[in-house]
Amino acid sequence: MELSDVQADLTETLLTEDQIHEKIAELARRIEADYAGERPLLVAVLKGAVMVMADVARELRMHVDIDFMAVSSYGAGTESSGVVRILKDLDADLIGRHVIIVEDIIDSGLTLAWLRANLESRGPASLEILALLRKPEAAKVEVDVKYVGFDIPNAFVVGYGLDYAESYRNLRGVAVLAPHVYS
Ligand code: 5GP
Repeated sequence: MELSDVQADLTETLLTEDQIHEKIAELARRIEADYAGERPLLVAVLKGAVMVMADVARELRMHVDIDFMAVSSYGAGTESSGVVRILKDLDADLIGRHVIIVEDIIDSGLTLAWLRANLESRGPASLEILALLRKPEAAKVEVDVKYVGFDIPNAFVVGYGLDYAESYRNLRGVAVLAPHVYS
């Protein structure tokens, strides 16, 4: 696929690579202050949060552990089903750990509410959430997200780890997917 084909599938760039990195640096400074003297465990959900995880982890000037989990809540479409399945569980034991869930995007919040409850039941010393992007719907859900990158409009976005049918994850910024791609 040509680069021009990818561009034609996007209506607007919501966030540039620089804007994302600046925000991640801000969040990292807060985490360093909040977890001074601790060794937090960053937990990301594959595959969407891989880019956020890589950048947050590298921005932190402290020891951290990282671990991954794979769940499925979306098919190839654009609507959340609310059905969550563990495809790959964590390697780490969460007992007594200070865990930070690193998420790409919160839409309905269903995935995160489920994940939070699931990890909470494993006995961490603390459990907080970092989400790079948050959509308006998320405000209606009772999930406390301590570290939020950007509140974005209610559009289907791709890039920086986020896909549509496994494409666009490798874009450096976050862009709105043109309706002609999925309609
Ligand atoms: P929720 O359960 O909060 O509705 O959805 C969470 C998951 O749905 C995210 O982790 C992400 O995989 C997917 N998702 C939600 N909104 C978008 C979007 O605008 N673009 C993409 N690519 N995925 C989304």
